[in-house]
Amino acid sequence: MNAASIAALARAGAGITVEVVPETGSTNADLLARAPALAGPALLIAENQTAGRGRAGRSWLSSSEHSLTFSLAWKFDGGPQQLSGLPLAVGVALGEALGQLGVQVQLKWPNDVLKDGAKLAGILIETQAAPGGGIWAVIGIGLNLVMPDEMEARLGRSAAGAPWLARMERDVLMAALLDALAETLRLFARQGFGAFCARWNLRHAWQGETVVILDNAASGNPVVLHEGLAAGVDDTGRLLLDTLDGRITVLAGDVSLRVKT
Ligand code: ATP
Repeated sequence: MNAASIAALARAGAGITVEVVPETGSTNADLLARAPALAGPALLIAENQTAGRGRAGRSWLSSSEHSLTFSLAWKFDGGPQQLSGLPLAVGVALGEALGQLGVQVQLKWPNDVLKDGAKLAGILIETQAAPGGGIWAVIGIGLNLVMPDEMEARLGRSAAGAPWLARMERDVLMAALLDALAETLRLFARQGFGAFCARWNLRHAWQGETVVILDNAASGNPVVLHEGLAAGVDDTGRLLLDTLDGRITVLAGDVSLRVKT
């Protein structure tokens, strides 16, 4: 991939520094380390990411041939409360951009992009106070272009690829995603998640389905915290769940959602 060509192709990318590295552990870790010295928004793409991260110390698997792994550092005014719903807004940006490229996806609360019910992309946002005030959000995205059987076996659960995207010129795909993200982050800075709530709900994967909210989902010992019908999200990005005791709202924290089978 080529940084100059991505920057030239991305119409909304003005003022965003673009860098491509052949390999790194985690693009999120790299940008978090650099954040204090960044003069403006920065996109870091790794051709190969060897220690990709998910939430709560989980890992994100990728390969140089079959995945897109990148992070975008963006500075917001205000404090962490300003960022509630940001992972969901980023999901909307990805969902709409992929839809325009011909790949229809759905969103799973709080931070996943699904294709045919399986995870196609993951979003991990990590933050850091900016030295002069405000907050840096480092938005990490891993997108599967192809999902080889061997990787699915390592994951131990089904995951999706998008062969159609794999056939696209990578720089063109990356520029389209950067455009969508830059537009989203600018709107989010002005209006917060309220501007994205209806758009998220339109793509909600499990609307009206019975779901469970789990603590420790990845462990051998998950605990069911709630069960109910998924009713979308509110304008701060909380999940609305219709339980036997009535409607409740669930904060993202570190809980995981599973459709009840
Ligand atoms: P869950 O998917 O269990 O609800 P989560 O959404 O919080 O959890 P993340 O922490 O965002 O998941 O992502 C890490 C998880 O995603 C890993 O635990 C693994 O199950 C899964 N995963 C890792 N790499 C990939 C990949 N390339 N494609 C699809 N899923 C992946």
